[in-house]
Amino acid sequence: MELNDITRRIRAAETAAGRPEGSVTLIAVSKVQPDQRVEAVLDAGQRVFGENYVQEAQGKWPDWRERWPGVELHMIGPLQSNKAKVAVGLFDAIHTLDRMSLARKLAQAAEAQGRLPQLFVQVNTGDEPQKAGILADELPGFITQLRGLGLDPQGLMCIPPEGEDATPHFRLLRKLAEAEGLEKLSMGMSADFESAIAEGATHVRVGSAIFGKRDYSA
Ligand SMILES: *Cc1c(COP(=O)(O)O)cnc(C)c1O
Repeated sequence: MELNDITRRIRAAETAAGRPEGSVTLIAVSKVQPDQRVEAVLDAGQRVFGENYVQEAQGKWPDWRERWPGVELHMIGPLQSNKAKVAVGLFDAIHTLDRMSLARKLAQAAEAQGRLPQLFVQVNTGDEPQKAGILADELPGFITQLRGLGLDPQGLMCIPPEGEDATPHFRLLRKLAEAEGLEKLSMGMSADFESAIAEGATHVRVGSAIFGKRDYSA
């Protein structure tokens, strides 16, 4: 199945980059995919998954988690502040922290629930007006504010502009993370995960290359 092929390509990219085997975590992005495709990937042993929509994830994963123990669930889509509470209970990591109002809600929910997902700050590396994410210039101030709230971000995430070479964006993200002392880099999708690994990705988010094309009409 495709999962094995992707896993092999990840291992090869790690080796080519001179990085230890297993240093990259594959997040299988299961949003919008039919249940049987996701269940086949769970059966094949994959345990780390990414979802974009709180409601969709809430509907599917509590049951799958019981049937396949050890699942780790990552939120990789835009997160509305009014969903922060549910997100803190449901996800093991949130890749899309991009504003202080959301950070405050997450901190409150974490305090109330006694659990805090791992946090990645989304960076708008292409300076795109329509895209979520903190601008590179504003990142140091944002990280300081998060730490002031008692939050401890672990890494950065980016979605490079469509139709552009992604490598300069991956490089920028890595440089920003190093400057802030952050170890994790969530970057690379189906089309470019190998170049992301060459630039230091610790988490790649791969959907269609594993599950096939998404059908949003269903
Ligand atoms: C959907 C999505 C992915 C997966 O995209 P593919 O091209 O199917 O691999 C990765 N990251 C984010 C943020 C996404 O929304």
